[in-house]
Amino acid sequence: MPYVPRPATIVRCAHCSTPFESRNLRRKYCSNSCNVLASYQRTGARSEPRPSKADLERGLATLIELMTAKERAAASAPKPIAAPKPKPAPETKELSLSEAKAKLQELAYARKKVRELTEKLAEDKKLKETKPAKTSPKHSR
Ligand SMILES: [Zn+2]
Repeated sequence: MPYVPRPATIVRCAHCSTPFESRNLRRKYCSNSCNVLASYQRTGARSEPRPSKADLERGLATLIELMTAKERAAASAPKPIAAPKPKPAPETKELSLSEAKAKLQELAYARKKVRELTEKLAEDKKLKETKPAKTSPKHSR
């Protein structure tokens, strides 16, 4: 008796319910990926499917957009001379900014100095207080 292959039947994929032809009655899924995805769903190993090619392309596009925007900003920022508008000179703004920075640095330095001085004064005071503390047993604190 010659071998007669079983006629292909149309089966619906158990995962994506896409109809597909199969000669194997035990075949449940249209593709290997559906088999794997269904297995993931059963076991709960990975509920979210892998990002599709469209998703990846969209993400890449937004990434490129962001990068080019950043590059454009970086390229345009250090060239305020190229601006043709008679603005109130961007250099003065930059100068005032650097001046403000310098003032802030000065202030920070002054604060540091003041802190150092007050600490030193407090130490001196403590030393002076401890000295007479030997003669008088009273403690201020
Ligand atoms: Zn499928």
